[in-house]
Amino acid sequence: MQGFQWLRTGVLAALASGAAFAAVPAQAQGALVMYCGVQEEWCRAMSTAFERDTGIKVAMTRKSAGEIYAQLKAESANPRGDIWWGGTGDPHLQAAEEGLTLEYESPVNKDLHDWALSQWKAAQKRSVGIYAGALGFGFNTQQIKQKGLNEPKCWADLLDPKLKDDVQVADPNSSGTAYNLLATVVQLMGEEKGFDYLKKLHKNVSQYTKSGAAPAKAASLGETAVGIVFIHDAVVFAVQGDPIKAVAPCEGTGYEIGSMSIIKGARNLDNAKKFYDWALTPAAQALAAPAKSYQVPSNKNSTVPPQAPKMSEMKMIDYDFVKYGSSAERTRLLTKWDKEVKALPK
Ligand code: PLP
Repeated sequence: MQGFQWLRTGVLAALASGAAFAAVPAQAQGALVMYCGVQEEWCRAMSTAFERDTGIKVAMTRKSAGEIYAQLKAESANPRGDIWWGGTGDPHLQAAEEGLTLEYESPVNKDLHDWALSQWKAAQKRSVGIYAGALGFGFNTQQIKQKGLNEPKCWADLLDPKLKDDVQVADPNSSGTAYNLLATVVQLMGEEKGFDYLKKLHKNVSQYTKSGAAPAKAASLGETAVGIVFIHDAVVFAVQGDPIKAVAPCEGTGYEIGSMSIIKGARNLDNAKKFYDWALTPAAQALAAPAKSYQVPSNKNSTVPPQAPKMSEMKMIDYDFVKYGSSAERTRLLTKWDKEVKALPK
């Protein structure tokens, strides 16, 4: 896919552009309330490092992307958060459109990949791309063998009746991953066939989890045969030797631009801007891989972790972030999914 030419250009050496932040003495510099949308371990690594580098005390909460969006909306009359860091781009775009987040142009923008800036432009400067990752699934090799199935390679393979109650995926209302799946199948198959697919898949889904990455862990433990997740969430368990394989579906797949936004009404606005600039540096983006998060970072000077799935080798759809991140479309699709898929008897 042409848009992913940047991924083919390979790994660039990380520059020490975070050094200026590292030199700031750690003394009391106020506070920052951070809503974090990635995995807990990476959230903790980011808040600890920012505190260490700046002396700003971080109060961090980890939630799924749809939940953070809902929290911003619920708190809009009396905002409590300062920065929303991480999570799929679609709910960030919806929050931008609804005026829940603030315009900001970081001096680090000049070092970002085009796809990260395309999120910034789509959000009218209210959100920016911090990483990218492709959607797919992970399967437990032992479970698949025991069921006498060939290794699944395609979305269509997940409809096999032998997988009844043995597929896990999150609920798209709470999870950015699962909304990414909903929007992906609609774009890949067309809305009617896409919903038809999700209805058939429903028969095989044992539970819709709250968090998007939970099904990867369940598949790694053999609690489910298949977990639909971002591919890098399955890779986490594969690299530690668990019996799980990560798959980029043969029909093609969608991807996310993980994003960051400053919350409108932030009480610690200066600190939110400091965090925003810091989080875009190669030094801060290098905290992902040691925290077992293998996305592609948005700064051109960041090192791409060797474990990151190679999106340039996958069949990717041209995901329409503007449309599927719009308030009307996201609300419409989620309401339709609740009515036509989740409510179905099994
Ligand atoms: N896990 C990883 C590694 C992610 O990159 C993301 C989204 O950016 C998520 C999970 C999303 O979490 P959720 O689906 O719970 O919103």
